[in-house]
Parts: sequence; structure tokens; C-alpha cells
Amino acid sequence: MDKVAVYPGSFDPITYGHIDIVERALEIFDKVIVAVAHNAEKRPLFSTEERRKIIKALFKDNRNVIVDSFKGLLVDYVAKTNAKVIIRGLRATSDFEYEFHMASMNRSLNTHLDTLFMMTNKDYFFVSSRTIKEVAKLGGGVEGLVPDLVSRRLKEKFKLPIPKKSQIGWDD
Ligand code: ADP
Repeated sequence: MDKVAVYPGSFDPITYGHIDIVERALEIFDKVIVAVAHNAEKRPLFSTEERRKIIKALFKDNRNVIVDSFKGLLVDYVAKTNAKVIIRGLRATSDFEYEFHMASMNRSLNTHLDTLFMMTNKDYFFVSSRTIKEVAKLGGGVEGLVPDLVSRRLKEKFKLPIPKKSQIGWDD
């Protein structure tokens, strides 16, 4: 039977930090379900559907990554899949307290589920969706921290000019 894990999050938007966790989780699990949380309270920049579509496009060639979204309690969502493990990434000790409480709460809600924490890749420990949005909004470059597709979508959202690759090096 396939070993399946659920990687839940807001992914508003997905970054290379998240992608790195997915890729490393695939070394342990046969399949990873990236589950976009529909969290109205967080007032996301991208709608649940936009976030899901971006992630789907990024993993279109990887059959072992399933992209989905969910509303309500994470444990209820996971119980409907064939996963027994929730994956979360840890960037710094500041992530730990919240994650520890959430994992403990989820475990008390459903004792069949476990949370597996993965340390961030050292190259991405400072990358969060929030800072990416702040920098992108002010026109700062986020290339190398998020895929090109995400950086384009951010520019569209913030109504910033999108450089046409085909023009670079053409006239000058
Ligand atoms: P949430 O709102 O559920 O925290 P996020 O999209 O911010 O959703 O993050 C989803 C998960 O990915 C969390 O476990 C978070 O700690 C982890 N994560 C976020 N950014 C990184 C990163 N740069 N490196 C590793 N893990 C990360």
C-alpha cells in the first residue's frame, strides 16, 4: 500500500521553501497531498482556487504530488484520505511553539494521525509567504525564492510590469 502524507498550509503563495519540503517528503512517502487551506480569516492574497491552480501547474509532471484544497478541520480532511501523517516545515524556533500546539491538538482530535516536522533547507529558512508578498508588493525581486510562475502572478496581483523575456537582449 502507498505511504501517503498530507502537507497542509496556506501557500499564499507557494515558495521554494514549501517546494523543498514536498520534494524531501517524497523521499519518505510514495505520495504527498499538498492541501491548500481555505482560511477566510487569514484574508489571503490569492483565492483558494488560485493557490491550488498555481501549485497544480508547478507539479504537473509529478504524478506523486496530489494538489487539493480543504475547508474546516485538518484532521477531518486527512481522515478522508488514506494518509496517516501530516507534514509541517519548521524554519526557526519561533515556528515551534505554534506548531507544537497544533500538532498536539490534532493528535488529541485524532489519535491515529501523526505530525512529521521537517527542518527547512538552510537556503530558505528566511523565506515566508508573508515576506515574499511584502517584498513583491514594493517591486522587489523574489526570483530564486519562488518559481517564475509565482513571481508573475504576484506582479499581476500588484499590477506591476511583467518583463517580457523575449524583449531582453533584443533591442539593447
Ligand atoms: P500556514 O498558514 O498553515 O502556516 P504556510 O503556507 O505559511 O501555511 O506554511 C505551510 C507549512 O510550510 C508550515 O508548516 C510552514 O512552517 C512551512 N514553511 C513555510 N515556509 C517554509 C520554508 N521557507 N521552509 C520550510 N518550511 C516552510
